[in-house]
Amino acid sequence: MFQAQYSSLHSRKRSVADRWPLIAVSCSLIAFLLASCATPVPTAEPTPLAAPAFETASPPGVQAATAAPLRFVLPSPDADPISGWRPPLYPVPWAVSSYDHFYFTRPNPASEVNWPLPDYRYGGVFFANVVHTGIDIEAKAGSPVVAAGPGTVVWAGGGFYTGNVNDATDPYGLAVSIRHDFGFQGRPLFTVYAHMSRVDVTVGQHVEAGEQLGRVGDTGKTTGPHLHFEVRLEHNTYHHTLNPELWLVPPQGWGVLAGNIIQLNDQPLQGFTVRVISEDTGRVREVRTYINEAIHPDPYYQENMALSDLPAGLYRVSFIYDGRDHRFWVEILPGQVTYFTYKMYGYLETVPPPTPALNFVPMTPTPTATRRP
Ligand SMILES: [Zn+2]
Repeated sequence: MFQAQYSSLHSRKRSVADRWPLIAVSCSLIAFLLASCATPVPTAEPTPLAAPAFETASPPGVQAATAAPLRFVLPSPDADPISGWRPPLYPVPWAVSSYDHFYFTRPNPASEVNWPLPDYRYGGVFFANVVHTGIDIEAKAGSPVVAAGPGTVVWAGGGFYTGNVNDATDPYGLAVSIRHDFGFQGRPLFTVYAHMSRVDVTVGQHVEAGEQLGRVGDTGKTTGPHLHFEVRLEHNTYHHTLNPELWLVPPQGWGVLAGNIIQLNDQPLQGFTVRVISEDTGRVREVRTYINEAIHPDPYYQENMALSDLPAGLYRVSFIYDGRDHRFWVEILPGQVTYFTYKMYGYLETVPPPTPALNFVPMTPTPTATRRP
């Protein structure tokens, strides 16, 4: 989490269909996708409401159950049974549609919690004016931090934000940054791993996906041990980040929701809490729309909110705005981004932006000049 004042808005004009709910999807496509990947057992994770702030791998509810006779606990809307289990990830790079770009695997081992802390997502604001340009992943001090993709280490140590390796006050603390062997739309891609307790790589070293970069710590501007992870496009600076939740590959059978909620004046709704409620389990997830300063929507989706790690299925999206409860339904498809645009009042479009021009997105990562020497 780093300091940045916010003030600017950017306007996005987008045509919207004057119709309501439910994403139209091809049943045959769903059937194919479900058949081709492991559909997860109904998820059982802590909800942000019932267990604030952290999703844990070994939750208290599981431990408590050992003292009592064997019993079943059925899901309820605000108190799901708790488990850290998730399906294995899709292989990377993964892109079902031409505009998806799940190029990165998780920056910590599968044996650890490897998903974003619900309250510390991209584009959030902390302490009044600190805009978050990455995601935070809960991790124990000393647990491994691994490369999200192959590339060359371009930073290893302190001073990543200030550029001064001796600056002990640098907000990123001990950090590693990688310039990846692939780019996006001909532009280089970087990832950043911050707040580490120890760095195990050196600048110029080539690493493969999953290779250890160091250990989780609490160096820099942080209130406790965790991994801060960023994705940057074109320039490796604080002002060129994108939402990692649209780049980290989902667990098999799971997907990602990206949305664009627009006010009547065509401005994106900023800093609003949006609830995403599973029709299958009743689990409530909350996500906040971006504050726009210092963050950037995806080049294609132009979203102002994203929520990853959603088991495929129907979800109700709802939020309170102008005293009204706005709600609609979306269907999360496995292994891809489900996209919507919602404009006040009641205009919903649930198809992605228009098909990009031929010079747009590659189906696979584009090579750049940074390949292994
Ligand atoms: Zn962070």
